[in-house]
Amino acid sequence: MNINNYDVIVMGGGPAGSSVASMLAREGRQVILFEKEIFPRHHIGESLMTDTYWTFRRMGVLDKLKASPFVRKYSVQFANAAGKESRPFYFFESVHHESAVTWQVTRAEFDKLLIDHAADSGVTVHQGVLVKQVLFEGDQAVGVEVQMQDGSREKFFAKVVVDATGQVAMLSNKFRWRVRDPKLKKAVLYSYWKGVHREPDLNGGATLVLRTEKGSNGWFWYIPLENDITSVGIVADPEYLVQGRGQDLAKIYEEEVEKCEPCRRRVEGGTRVDKIYSILDYSYRSKQNAGNGFIIIGDAYGFLDPIYSSGVLLALKMAELAADAIHDAFNHDDFSAERLGQYQAKLDRGIESMRKLVYAFYNEGFSFSGFLRKYPEERVHIINLLIGDVFREGVDQVYGPMAEFAEIPPPLYEQVDGTLTPQVPTPDEADLLLSAKYKSFDDRQPQTSGD
Ligand SMILES: Cc1cc2nc3c(=O)[nH]c(=O)nc-3n(C[C@H](O)[C@H](O)[C@H](O)COP(=O)(O)OP(=O)(O)OC[C@H]3O[C@@H](n4cnc5c(N)ncnc54)[C@H](O)[C@@H]3O)c2cc1C
Repeated sequence: MNINNYDVIVMGGGPAGSSVASMLAREGRQVILFEKEIFPRHHIGESLMTDTYWTFRRMGVLDKLKASPFVRKYSVQFANAAGKESRPFYFFESVHHESAVTWQVTRAEFDKLLIDHAADSGVTVHQGVLVKQVLFEGDQAVGVEVQMQDGSREKFFAKVVVDATGQVAMLSNKFRWRVRDPKLKKAVLYSYWKGVHREPDLNGGATLVLRTEKGSNGWFWYIPLENDITSVGIVADPEYLVQGRGQDLAKIYEEEVEKCEPCRRRVEGGTRVDKIYSILDYSYRSKQNAGNGFIIIGDAYGFLDPIYSSGVLLALKMAELAADAIHDAFNHDDFSAERLGQYQAKLDRGIESMRKLVYAFYNEGFSFSGFLRKYPEERVHIINLLIGDVFREGVDQVYGPMAEFAEIPPPLYEQVDGTLTPQVPTPDEADLLLSAKYKSFDDRQPQTSGD
């Protein structure tokens, strides 16, 4: 046997890649993973949803998380533009199990914990190794060509290649499968603070979502991390946040903190301890989740606006669905797109459930408090969505009554142009606006601004 032959090759060692690799290896497959960075490396996406618990349990990493210094998260709370705060949405109102508590994670440490866990689970992990291309025989993926740390090129072969390359989205870009959400396009500025306000009790672990002024279509996140660090970021329409405001991102960020009363009040007395990071984020989804011999998961498949912190949850759920489909493919010796991609309809239903809630939030005038005043019995369904239980039968029923308060969108593919024709992502007016500071759509990594 060629020593470069494996059952499964995983490209990318973020939460999606490390998780699918760990599960497959623990469940008997020979897996190799390539990650271009050497961890720890900075990444955004710090607040977890509680339903990540079940994937952590399957991949055997719960004890490591419980022993970690990550802050415990019990709830989410919203404040409107006038600073009026909702009642906290405690996850234990709906879930009576230890899975009702999750973590706020420093991603550099969390992602390292997961990739190290993949290695502990029997995955052959290569960090600092870039996948240059996926190798095809006809339309069947058969392996990858990588650039090793010393610059040499090497080929590896497998029955299944998993694309978990995050927003690089290697294969859905190659096939031009990415469909962009026409309405969800945001600019993001964020940084880290020390010594800012934190509630003494279990509310101290909450994610706060603080709406910014009318017309911004935006909000601040306020996420408590370990070592008294708090992540504070604004997400808003690029036209509002950066257009005509010059290139000084630190100045814009500070002006926005100043304008958002519930945010200003909380950071007063603390110190900003990091530079400003900026991202231009578009929500998108791939038209297909698999091809012959390959499968696409995590942000490489789809990205949804970060308002409800659903990114890692969806990445982990996709990792689980992919692991099941890959086992099924081995059991039937059938590595076709149909078999590997068998779960796409279920996955898309789950993502759509979350996407509707995202649209509701951005509806001018919508607030959870207003909605729940009229429909208090829907509180538990909102909590089920906020914990990430998006595949649950009936979870969508909340959108019947919610349609009185907010426009609920049709599924993305229908909304784009009524067919499954993909829109090739192209730089648009927002990229032009931001071109001096932001990289292009297809090469997005956070940019930093020194002060
Ligand atoms: C502003 C913002 C805020 C967010 N907040 C949250 C939040 O609070 N909670 C949450 O759950 N999610 C959040 N997210 C989303 C979250 O960051 C992502 O959904 C999550 O990181 C997806 O994991 P992934 O493994 O698919 O991709 P990634 O974490 O991006 O991992 C992909 C990996 O692939 C590697 N890679 C890429 N190309 C190659 C290659 N050619 N060869 C080898 N390796 C490669 C990269 O180096 C990277 O390490 C947020 C996102 C944004 C933009």
